[in-house]
Amino acid sequence: MDCIFCKILAGEIPSTKVYEDEMILAFRDINPEAKVHVLVIPKIHIPSMDAVTAENSAYVTHIFEKIPMIAKEAGATGGYRVISNCGADAAQSVPHLHFHILGGQQLPTHIV
Ligand code: 5GP
Ligand code: ZN
Repeated sequence: MDCIFCKILAGEIPSTKVYEDEMILAFRDINPEAKVHVLVIPKIHIPSMDAVTAENSAYVTHIFEKIPMIAKEAGATGGYRVISNCGADAAQSVPHLHFHILGGQQLPTHIV
C-alpha cells in the first residue's frame, strides 16, 4: 500500500521511535512544530478519524490510554496538546489515522 505511515510500520522508512507495542507506534514528527512533536499511529491502516468504527476503535482507545505516558516519555512534562486532522479542511496530509502530541514549550492559546 502506498501509505507513508504503513511504510514506517513496515520498517521501509526510518523513524525515531518513542514508544511501540503490539497495537501502536509513536515516533517523532519529521517536521516538528513544537519542541516535542510526536505522532501516534495504529498498527493497522485506518485512513482517518472518519473511518473509526466499532471494529477498530480499540486501537483508538489504546492510543488514548498510552498518550499520557508517551507524552512524558517524549519530554512533554509540563503539559501537551493532542490533535488529529481529518480531511481536506483540516489539512490532513497523511491518510493514516494519527494523533499529534505537541508540547515541551508554552503553546499558543488558539489552535486556529
Ligand atoms: P497531518 O498534516 O496529516 O495531520 O500530519 C502529518 C504529519 O506527518 C506532518 O506533521 C508531517 O511532518 C509528518 N510526516 C510526514 N511524512 C513523515 C515521515 O516520513 N516521517 C515522519 N517522522 N513524519 C512525517
Ligand atoms: Zn497506512
